[in-house]
Amino acid sequence: MEKLELLYEGKAKKVFKTDRPDVYLVQYKDDATAGNGAKRGTIRGKGAVNNQVTNHLMKFLEGKGIPTHLVEELSETETLVKKVQIVPLEVIVRNVAAGSLAKRLGMEEGTKLNCTVLEYCYKDDALGDPLVNDYHIAALGAATPEELRQIADYSMKINQELGEYLKTAGIELIDFKLEFGRDVNGNIILADEISPDTCRFWDVKTHAHLDKDLFRRDLGGEEEAYREVMHRLLGK
Ligand code: UDP
Repeated sequence: MEKLELLYEGKAKKVFKTDRPDVYLVQYKDDATAGNGAKRGTIRGKGAVNNQVTNHLMKFLEGKGIPTHLVEELSETETLVKKVQIVPLEVIVRNVAAGSLAKRLGMEEGTKLNCTVLEYCYKDDALGDPLVNDYHIAALGAATPEELRQIADYSMKINQELGEYLKTAGIELIDFKLEFGRDVNGNIILADEISPDTCRFWDVKTHAHLDKDLFRRDLGGEEEAYREVMHRLLGK
């Protein structure tokens, strides 16, 4: 597989074309941003952790019947993925109040929610990724109602399976963000990443943050925390 021209460079990843038209190469970076780019920095080793943790969790989810974009891990920081057309939504799944939800609803961070909460944000940096509902999504044409139903079903199932699995590693899944894409046949599949950048992971016992909140909130220790997540899940 040949790595060809750079297609896109995001905040945390680069995407390259390959000699296969249906396959892209993703390269994870150590660069970190928060607050829609307001805070910038580097978390040493982050790219390697996020790449390997994402692939580990996507393989796990494939085994549970969730279709994903994963093709093959190439190196510590590089992975081949299926080319998809990204659905321009950030799907946020919440089990415990934290971050923007805690603020918006005036709940203390760490309060268990009475039920799992699904939220959608419309992916548009200039607009600051606004929160949208099913009607907005249909009105925008961001996804069809059928696609959104599929996305919601997968997201709930992913939450169930990941939550149980992470608990065995002493990690509580507080909330997380997913992105989906349409494959060449128009089927919805899981894309992007599942990593300490995109999930809130708390230590089950101490409630210590094992995620990007350490960076976002200037708490420190993010390099160690990212490594700890990889160690607990992959044993390395
Ligand atoms: N999240 C993400 N990318 C974003 C916004 C949120 O991966 O652009 C994840 C974040 O890591 C957390 C969850 O989505 O696990 C919910 O984030 P929240 O809405 O609370 O946002 P924040 O507090 O980070 O502003």
